[in-house]
Amino acid sequence: MYNLKGGVVVTKEVAELQKIIDNHDNIVFFGGAGVSTESGIPDFRSKDGLYNQKYKYPPETILSNMFFYRRPEEFFRFYRDKMICDTAKPNAAHLKLAELEHVGKVKAIVTQNIDGLHQMAGSENVLELHGSIYRNHCKKCGREYGLDTVKNSEGVPKCECGGIIKPDVVLYGENLNDDVMNRAAKAINEAQVLIVGGTSLSVWPAASLIDYFRGNHLIVINKTPAERDSFADLIIREPIGGVFSQIVAKK
Ligand code: ZN
Repeated sequence: MYNLKGGVVVTKEVAELQKIIDNHDNIVFFGGAGVSTESGIPDFRSKDGLYNQKYKYPPETILSNMFFYRRPEEFFRFYRDKMICDTAKPNAAHLKLAELEHVGKVKAIVTQNIDGLHQMAGSENVLELHGSIYRNHCKKCGREYGLDTVKNSEGVPKCECGGIIKPDVVLYGENLNDDVMNRAAKAINEAQVLIVGGTSLSVWPAASLIDYFRGNHLIVINKTPAERDSFADLIIREPIGGVFSQIVAKK
């Protein structure tokens, strides 16, 4: 344990993270599902068997482009049940990252999550690699819809023009948004510090984006070993909310 000024006792790793944050002002955070699980949003990739009891297909199949068009009823049953978690609240990690952006430390948040919790916490420059449940559009006329239309409709949500409303969420078999990818690569490339949290970096394109990093410190906060651990100069094996709740955001 480490004694910071003011008598706050933190672990050696958290003290080291604080020092790195204090000494840099171009920090990028790259986050995965683990950031949101502490807000009660389940990671559909985790093998808890929850989904298998209720659905005939694994989530990777249901959340694919082909499945969406072939079996839209079943897609939306799963989507409303498992993917829309709009009652979740930002946790200490989301809140502290927003604070760190406001004091000029964090320049961008790159996330694989689609829950909008970073924006809810007050973050502004959020690059959503996999889209967002809060944006939806008609496949026929392009009209945009919020979450409520999809959430409150029955069966397959339809536009006034008769077209299917599709969530702006990147499904398996679909390409990521080029603009978001380019902005994420640029932010990571220009960062002095990259904090990777709540992801094992096993989902494409996470690992390839990390390769753009040329900065001073790569920090990994993950409960289990991740792919780029060997490149990290600081690894913290503690819950991410707990880590960030101990960090002080100052200019
Ligand atoms: Zn339409």
